[in-house]
This record gives sequence, structure tokens and C-alpha cells, in this order.
Amino acid sequence: MKQYDYLIVGAGLFAAVFANEAKKHGKRCLVVEKRDHIGGNIYCEDIEGITVHKYGAHIFHTSNRKVWNYVNQFCEFNNFINSPVCNYKGDIFNLPFNMNTFSKMFSISKPDEAKEIIERQKQEITDTPENLEEQAISLVGREIYEKLIKGYTEKQWGRDCKDLPAFIIKRLPVRYTYDNNYFDDRYQGIPVNGYNEMIEKMFDGIEVRTGIDFFDNKEELLALAEKCLFTGMIDEFFDFKLGKLNYRSLKFETEVLNESNYQGVAVMNFSERNIPYTRIIEHKHFAFGTQKKTVITKEYPKEWQEGDEPYYPVNDERNNALYKQYEELAKAEKNIIFGGRLGLYKYYDMDKCIEAALNICDKEF
Ligand code: FAD
Ligand code: UDP
Repeated sequence: MKQYDYLIVGAGLFAAVFANEAKKHGKRCLVVEKRDHIGGNIYCEDIEGITVHKYGAHIFHTSNRKVWNYVNQFCEFNNFINSPVCNYKGDIFNLPFNMNTFSKMFSISKPDEAKEIIERQKQEITDTPENLEEQAISLVGREIYEKLIKGYTEKQWGRDCKDLPAFIIKRLPVRYTYDNNYFDDRYQGIPVNGYNEMIEKMFDGIEVRTGIDFFDNKEELLALAEKCLFTGMIDEFFDFKLGKLNYRSLKFETEVLNESNYQGVAVMNFSERNIPYTRIIEHKHFAFGTQKKTVITKEYPKEWQEGDEPYYPVNDERNNALYKQYEELAKAEKNIIFGGRLGLYKYYDMDKCIEAALNICDKEF
């Protein structure tokens, strides 16, 4: 019998759910994580008494009661509702696209007036939308597409909107009411004591070794356990033998400012193409902070290169087709389970990531 039942590669959210469930079922797990901390991209840092989302703004939202109950075992959530704004040439528009956005953009006040303008503008799309540009125009018309979507999206993904899948923009609600809640979900919030508390409780009692890259000792590590859960990059697992999948990375530039309220909102997007960052996060507003100073982070998107963190899978046609081929290789690996945003190459939010992990646990234990 081997020393562990499971070797878990990565200490992000997917791994945390799996490890926690495995422990409940009496399984012995070893977790290896290449960063110097647990939590993956939901990890936070304390700066000037402010909880800083080190890898970008994370707002928990779900309509799945099972997932909501699941996370509430580990921490209490505040009542934060994400209501970001979009800055276009100094003018501020509410998001997601709703009556506040339409009234400012079109100088109207009634839903019927907004509908009439958008219906007229979207007539240029006659067939089923096949890419992000067509999808965006058919949802909100050309003017909003040009001012609030095109520049932001091309910075975020480094690709023309015509070459991106439609589903990316369908993530955002479009409403003919004055409702600035970015999400349609039933449950929403940020852990009162930060995500670290949640993730620490999930890994409680489980052996975790940080600062260890699985690929530095792949065979030795695999030999320690009966099975492996791998939540790193699936193409890297197979030594990129079918070719490289694309990922988008980000550079975060964080500053402490000697003022209490820099932008008056947690998330401000910048949709102009010539502003190099996509958004500025002012972290204290996630927790209604009243500190004297404030911490802001600018988010600069970039194409992933070796050494960068791979934050987003690029689910366009080429990459999805290549992923399918890697998935075939993965199926042949009987003792390896692939999970998470990188292992499954899916643009998962936290709730979907937890749901997917719980489904795998149901089959496994
Ligand atoms: P990760 O968090 O990426 O964890 C994988 C872990 O594996 C990492 O810690 C990594 O270091 C480790 N690893 C990789 N390779 C190796 C290796 N070779 N050896 C050892 N360790 C390895 N979701 C929401 O619900 N709401 C939001 O507001 C939201 N905002 C987001 C903003 C940004 C900028 C990003 C990038 C994501 C956002 N998400 C949001 C999504 C959320 O971050 C993910 O759903 C979730 O964190 C995925 O967890 P994971 O375990 O799959 O991946
Ligand atoms: N988007 C946009 N303008 C905005 C905000 C979002 O065009 O001001 C588009 C962009 O293509 C982005 C997608 O909507 O990739 C999804 O936005 P979301 O905020 O869900 O992205 P995430 O938080 O996952 O980066």
C-alpha cells in the first residue's frame, strides 16, 4: 500500500474541495503547490489593514443552494453586491447593461425608448450570432458595443471580437430595469474575514507542501500515492506534446494611496483601447472599509508565456479543439483526475468550480 491515497497537485479552490471531501471519507492526501501559499487565485493579502485580492477581484455568486450552503460551512459572507462602472473617455456608465447605462448613453428614461434604439441598432445582425462582436451587437446594439465592449474585450483577450466566442459576453446580464447588480444569482457576497479563512478551513488537517512544483519531481511524487488529482495546466501535464494551449495572463500593479476613497467603487472598468489596463480595483470597498488609506490595483492583460500565471483559458475554436485532443489523452490516464480551471481548460467561476469538484467527489468517494 502506498503512503497516500491521493496526491493533489495545486492548492486552489478545486483542490481544496476535493481534499476536504477526501478527508471526510478517511482518505490520506498530500497536496503540493508551487506558489508559496494556498488558495490559488482567491488568495488575499493584508495591506494597511485592507484585504487585498492579490490575483484580481473575487466576488462569490451562485444560484446553486447546495454550493452556497457548502461555502457557508467555512465562513460567513458579507452583503457586498458587485456594481462596477465602466469609464469611457471620463464618462461613467453603470454595468451590467441596464436602464442606468441606456439612459446615460441615449439620454432617455423609459425601457421602451431604450428598446426601440437597441432594436434599431441590432438589425445589422440578421443570423444567429457566431462570434463575440455579433453577439454583443445583438444584445445591446452597436453604440454600446463600440464604447463599452470592443476596447475592453480586445485588451482583455488580445484578439479581435470577431475571433472570440459569443459565450464570453453572454456572462453579463442585459436588463431593462434600473438594477446595477452585476450578477443575476440568488446568493452573493465576500467572506467577512477574507477568502484565506475559507480556504485554510478547507485544508485543515491535510498535509500541504507549498513551494513545490510537481514537474520538478513528477515520477517520485506520483509514486507516493494510489491516485492523483491534477489541477495545473493539462497541456503541461502531457509535456505540450500535442501543442500549446493559449492562456491569458495578467500583470497586477498595486499601490497604497494616502487617501481614504480613490474611486468610490470596488471595480472601475476602462473600455478605451489606448488605456493599457482593463480595470482598477479599490479593495477596501469589497468590505465597506473605513481605513485612512486605500489600496488600488490596476489589471493589465497579456498573452501567457512560460513563467507567467495562466489565469484564463482562451476558449476559441482552435484551443477547444486542441483541448479535446488532450482530453482524450487524459481519459487514458486511469489514475489521474484532471480538475479546475486549468486541468479542465474551462472559464469556471468559483461556484462552478466547486460544483464540478463536488461532482467528481460524488463519483470518487
Ligand atoms: P487555481 O486557483 O488556478 O488553482 C490552481 C493551483 O494549482 C494554483 O495555486 C497553482 O499555483 C497550482 N499549480 C499549477 N501548476 C502546478 C504545478 N505544476 N505544481 C504545483 N502546483 C501547481 N470567480 C468568481 O466566482 N467570481 C469572481 O469575481 C472571479 N473573478 C476572477 C478574477 C480573475 C482575475 C480570475 C483569474 C479569476 C476569477 N474568478 C472569479 C475565477 C476563480 O478564480 C476560479 O474559479 C477559481 O479560483 C479556480 O480554482 P482552481 O482551483 O481551478 O484554480
Ligand atoms: N466586458 C466588456 N466590458 C466591460 C466588462 C466586461 O466588454 O466593461 C466583456 C469582456 O469581453 C469580458 C466579458 O464581458 O471578458 C466578461 O466579463 P466579466 O466581468 O465576467 O469577466 P471576468 O471577471 O471573468 O474577467
